[in-house]
Amino acid sequence: MELAELLNKKHDEARQGEAFKAIGTPLLDGKKFYIESYGCAMNFSDSEVVASILQENDFSATPDFEAADLILINTCSIREKAEQTIRKRLTEFRKIKRTRPGMLIGVLGCMAERLKAQLLEQEKLVDLVIGPDAYRSLPALIKEASGGQKGVNVLLSRDETYGDIAPVRLNSNGITAFVSITRGCNNMCSFCVVPFTRGRERSRSANSIIEEIKSLVTEGYKEITLLGQNVDSYHWVNETGNETVTFANLLEQAALVSPDLRVRFSTSHPKDITDDVLYTMAKYENICKCIHLPVQSGNTRVLQLMNRTYSREWYLAKVDRIREILPNCGLTSDMIAGFCTETEEEHQDTLTLMDYCCFDMSYMYFYSERPGTLAARRFKDDISLEDKKRRLQEIVDKQGELSTKSNLNDIGKTFKILIETRSKRNANDWTGRTSQNKITVFPKSNENQQPGDYVWVKIHDCTRATLLGTIVDHP
Ligand code: SAM
Ligand code: SF4
Repeated sequence: MELAELLNKKHDEARQGEAFKAIGTPLLDGKKFYIESYGCAMNFSDSEVVASILQENDFSATPDFEAADLILINTCSIREKAEQTIRKRLTEFRKIKRTRPGMLIGVLGCMAERLKAQLLEQEKLVDLVIGPDAYRSLPALIKEASGGQKGVNVLLSRDETYGDIAPVRLNSNGITAFVSITRGCNNMCSFCVVPFTRGRERSRSANSIIEEIKSLVTEGYKEITLLGQNVDSYHWVNETGNETVTFANLLEQAALVSPDLRVRFSTSHPKDITDDVLYTMAKYENICKCIHLPVQSGNTRVLQLMNRTYSREWYLAKVDRIREILPNCGLTSDMIAGFCTETEEEHQDTLTLMDYCCFDMSYMYFYSERPGTLAARRFKDDISLEDKKRRLQEIVDKQGELSTKSNLNDIGKTFKILIETRSKRNANDWTGRTSQNKITVFPKSNENQQPGDYVWVKIHDCTRATLLGTIVDHP
């Protein structure tokens, strides 16, 4: 893989198009479904809720779409390219349907609301269209669609959190799992389609989150990632109104479930991450020291146009605060190149901000106008594709330098690693992560070791994306 491609890869994008494979779930003789997921970690987590609803309704999973009675594709609208990829895939599925007339094809998630008419009526690509808040209606809509009607529900909800549904883990390594804590987003970043496709922000009940974490621990999971578009704005008040749980409180409750469980979270909006959260992270060894803090741009005027509600200086001060309270904390970010009216000097501001912050890793994109967003309505998408791509490449190159620098800086240090899987390249090597979320590869040191074990690894080498080391005794 090219470096640019590697660095421009979203960690969950490594899973793009991943099919459903429920570990430990035997295939039954009834109807079979196949599900493929695209986009952010939230979508992958939603597919686990959908799988649970379908299994409750006597559907069983198949990893083979040609054998499925129902093909579902959980979609992403964040950039135009994501939508194009999904359309191509739907056309492929349509071809299979011609040979299996009873088969149903459904679109779930973010593209549902935006493109329902087009997908159902004009292009006749699908039989079912279901928005992210309507998954409970899936069994009823499948019945309708089996009778020849089109099954559609794209209503967004103010209170649906699927809190009571125990997700069926998909393609799980049995060690790490996502736990969704909020849905939707109340921020109105001008470039972003999420508030329109996923609706208003809702926090799931703290009790149901902690119960889900406890059952994951019982099943042997060793790491959970609390998920939301903006986890720091988590706010839950219990039914009687006498208990309020903030994100810092929730993080603490999650950490207390088991000292052997690692807790991560994503994503943090710079305006919302509080000192309370940073101090809670400092207090508990098992809360991983890594913050994903998307900046989007290093220039205050552009940030204002993006409606991010912070300035360059404010963001830098937040980074200083993180470094002060959590000196060994990993820091990662998201960047958008070539937003409307961005000048060359303003683009340079992004590069200098990256230098200051020394991000360990970033997800980097060029701006893609999304219909209906504030930016699409208010600003002209006036940076040429050529300039957008060049600026993105400069950002990617800068991140390459910073990732190398950050990894070189770890040589000679010893980290506690949670073993996740065998290395794809060498079956005698393990792959795991540091608390800072850096992928680390190291040889097995004895036959009793297994995924889920913690080991101490001394780093002796690195690539831009990986640390290489050897298991050592507890320092
Ligand atoms: N809620 C998270 C936050 O605010 O940081 C991010 C959610 S979004 C799914 C992930 C990333 O996609 C954003 O941080 C942004 O960098 C990128 N993104 C969103 N809309 C975009 C657009 N229209 N064009 C290019 N990148 C976009
Ligand atoms: Fe989109 Fe901004 Fe919400 Fe993130 S915080 S999902 S970028 S609107």
